[in-house]
Amino acid sequence: MGTTVTVTLRANQPERLATIRPIVAQALTEIETDLSIFRPNSTLAIINATAGHGTPILLSTNAANGIALACHWAAVSQGAFDPTIGPLMNLWGFRSKTITEPPTPHSITQTLSRIGWTAIHLHPATATNPATAHLTKPGMHLDLGGIAKGQAVDLAWHRLRLNHQTDFLIDLGGNMRVHGTPHPSAKGWRIGIRNPFTSQDHLDIGTIILTNGQAVATSGNYEQYVELNGKRYTHIIDPRTGWPVSGIASVTVVAPDATTADALSTTLFVIGPQAGLKLLQTLPGCHALWIPDTQPISPITSPGLKLQK
Ligand code: ADP
Ligand code: MG
Repeated sequence: MGTTVTVTLRANQPERLATIRPIVAQALTEIETDLSIFRPNSTLAIINATAGHGTPILLSTNAANGIALACHWAAVSQGAFDPTIGPLMNLWGFRSKTITEPPTPHSITQTLSRIGWTAIHLHPATATNPATAHLTKPGMHLDLGGIAKGQAVDLAWHRLRLNHQTDFLIDLGGNMRVHGTPHPSAKGWRIGIRNPFTSQDHLDIGTIILTNGQAVATSGNYEQYVELNGKRYTHIIDPRTGWPVSGIASVTVVAPDATTADALSTTLFVIGPQAGLKLLQTLPGCHALWIPDTQPISPITSPGLKLQK
């Protein structure tokens, strides 16, 4: 997944690491094996290579869950979150191809004809058959980069709980989920919210406290971007226009699980605060903080997000 994972425990419990490390590594490997677009033999790569062939591809439980959850968020966001964003990621030079200026309006329009999550045909598992999926149009391309890290964190979190592990924080490249507390008298895990205009920790804009299995994810314009004609374009693309989203520096989402936080951070980055605050009213336990891409820094928070200084 191109990032690192960190698990934080209470102080003075190093013996737990020997148990925890392989459980977390196994969960992440399973998700990568199924859903990575960078591995030529992943289930996702096979679905992409056979787009338009009409051949249903057999899915593991993790792959079926990942695709179903991605389709769920595509429906909830009315297509602002779209797991078929792959061809646009290619066009804008995020997947190996080097370009020096933005694509032409004509090539964007052409590429948009290969985007659209309703062309994902997913057949859930039944009592007798495993789940299958395929893409109905040639040239389509699934990319679960907006949700797979969250799914991996949730899988690792559940496996640790099955192993009776308590009081931990998993952090996979900024996708976090907690259990319990960092010490007996703590209310929860204190998480710093980064100032998107600097990488210095002591300039964090505030902290939030996560409790009871809560998760947090941040989508930012500052870590992954391409520079074309001297202008930066972030790696989150609006599937309605085919253009990278501008105007937002970061979105942080607190949610009841890491998959929701991950998918929602990407979604709320695309739709912005006005539509986003409305959407949040329909999603219990989900809260967000937007930082517009203008200085001085002026965050916009949903009512349930408690930012502490
Ligand atoms: P990060 O990967 O840095 O944690 P995000 O969770 O916001 O950031 O995911 C960004 C990734 O999501 C992109 O690299 C791409 O794989 C995918 N993506 C980009 N635009 C969209 C979109 N509109 N809908 C769904 N996924 C997207
Ligand atoms: Mg995301």
